Amino acid sequence: MAPAEKEKVHIRVLPDHVINKIAAGEVVERPASVVKELVENALDANAANIDIEIVSGGRTLISVSDNGAGMERNDALLSVERHATSKISDVDDIERINTLGFRGEALAAISSVSRFTLRSRPADALAGTELVMAEGKMQDVRETGCPPGTSIEVRHLFFNVPARRKFLRSEQTEEAHIRQTFMMYALANPAVGLKLKSDGKLIYNLPANATIENRLGDLFVSITKNDLRPVAWSSGNLRISGYAALPSLTRADRSEQYLFINRRPASAALLIGAIRDGYQALIPKNRHPIVFLFLDIDPAAVDVNVHPAKKEVRFRNPGEVRRAVSEAIREALKNPDAGAAPRPPQAAFPPETLGETPSTLSGPLAEAGAKQTETGRMDIAPTRSEASGRGELQSEYYRIRKHKFAPPPKAAVLPLMDYAGEKGHAPAAEEAGGKPWAWRRIVGQIANLYVIMETEDGLVLMDPHAAHERVLFEKFMAEVAKGAVKSQALLMAESVVLSPADALCLRRSMGTLKKIGFSIAEFGRDTFLVDAVPACFGDVAAQPLLAEIAADLSESSGRAGDGHVFEEQIARAACHASVKAHSRLSESEMEHLISELEKAEMPYTCPHGRPVIIHFSFHELARKFGRNAPRG
Ligand code: ADP
Ligand code: MG
Repeated sequence: MAPAEKEKVHIRVLPDHVINKIAAGEVVERPASVVKELVENALDANAANIDIEIVSGGRTLISVSDNGAGMERNDALLSVERHATSKISDVDDIERINTLGFRGEALAAISSVSRFTLRSRPADALAGTELVMAEGKMQDVRETGCPPGTSIEVRHLFFNVPARRKFLRSEQTEEAHIRQTFMMYALANPAVGLKLKSDGKLIYNLPANATIENRLGDLFVSITKNDLRPVAWSSGNLRISGYAALPSLTRADRSEQYLFINRRPASAALLIGAIRDGYQALIPKNRHPIVFLFLDIDPAAVDVNVHPAKKEVRFRNPGEVRRAVSEAIREALKNPDAGAAPRPPQAAFPPETLGETPSTLSGPLAEAGAKQTETGRMDIAPTRSEASGRGELQSEYYRIRKHKFAPPPKAAVLPLMDYAGEKGHAPAAEEAGGKPWAWRRIVGQIANLYVIMETEDGLVLMDPHAAHERVLFEKFMAEVAKGAVKSQALLMAESVVLSPADALCLRRSMGTLKKIGFSIAEFGRDTFLVDAVPACFGDVAAQPLLAEIAADLSESSGRAGDGHVFEEQIARAACHASVKAHSRLSESEMEHLISELEKAEMPYTCPHGRPVIIHFSFHELARKFGRNAPRG
């Protein structure tokens, strides 16, 4: 190719409307970012009520009205200029920002990529001002009658930036993002009344002057006070408040960690690490705790200026904040709040297995529990998703098992926990493929959970939960491979409500789900109607089943294409959810499960990789007892 002829280039300063359009890329990524900026402005204007309305996931209309301070005509005109803000006036002010906005970019950016109308009136003004703009250019300015406060309408977002419009996802996706944003601000500002309407339907109507507890109750329908521990910690300029969920309530991803710094939704790797530290070993490696944490910190000690969308923050004293957060959580989990079920988080077993009477535990079991957390291991992951009984429909996406089990016999537990701690190991991987033993005798079940067996060369402990998952998984995948998944109709169709994000994932996977034996229909926003599930899952409630699948899918967000990997992923989650852990097995059930496990291809681990069996050879036992011959 011939080199292009050298043309003379001229440098020119870009006109404002072009600059704004470029800058809009940083501030306005999608409809939810518009909602975020407009709600922040309303909050900064001290609104007591904010009404939000969207149409078509915000693509057609986003309207935010507040009853805050309002603007005079001149201020209104300035507000849509780039770098026009009432919130700071000097560089030093950046050091002590206590408003949500300060860059003066949002309105300029939003108005440059939409058809934009602003109406505003301070309470003491006789008339309001209306601005009409398109592509950042003023079309009309006039006096108008309007209630005190400000209302902004953003129509046809990105109509003049086809490249960006193309990147918008489905209306449902965009709506889900908007609702997530709405929830964040609603949580951070319980005193403010907030409404959200989507396509004419009222989705949230949250009263003003609420408490954080009211808000949690309104937004997270089935998380109860018993599931949460209050966090209250302060030292010097740093105050940490909010709630930390019990370790038994976890998620596959971090989407339920609501963090706020000076009432600003924020995230920082440091906080995430600190939260994990706070929970210590109480939570399995691949699970994440649920927290609602508010950090109030001297504005001078945090830098929110790192990112134009202001989500990522930096601390002047990261070490101190980190320590404070993990200590605050540790404290919260340590002090069971009166009224909450006293389930000691340090127990050796997942709190659920201890039923409603863990407070009676003391002595050896409690000690065993303490020992186990010290070693940082927690073999039996407390899972959030054990199936609850059919009919006990849990209306939200948090599931907490409330089954009653007798506390395990204390004396029997301690020595076994000890062994597992020092010597337990799963048989080597190369043994995979064959039966794990040639001969075995079931000795019994301990702690209503572990099955003890004698085999030809030692002692085997089996986790029936993990075993059941393995057996189900292989059976199910075999049916899938043959294209012959049996479906089983539920006696009554069950409605399942998921979080916006989880619902989205599930919706994307409907095709595969149907292929593998689910009969499932969308039933409004986040609700699904299920009337059949794969037969091999047996009598399992649809809610925990779908919630587990969705959470698992959202963890690998976006990559959920169809095909084998995806089916396997669904199967893993489904098996996990369908196994009722810790229920006492009858002898014949035990026998049946073990003989099924013997036929499995990979009997040593569950589909998630946890051990199914732990083996102690006689040789090992003999050495421990100081005998030299095995079985002597
Ligand atoms: P910033 O919030 O960073 O200052 P914006 O572009 O979002 O920048 O807003 C510019 C200015 O317009 C704000 O500083 C504020 O003075 C004014 N403003 C915007 N929205 C409102 C509102 N809802 N009520 C009152 N004033 C507002
Ligand atoms: Mg702003």
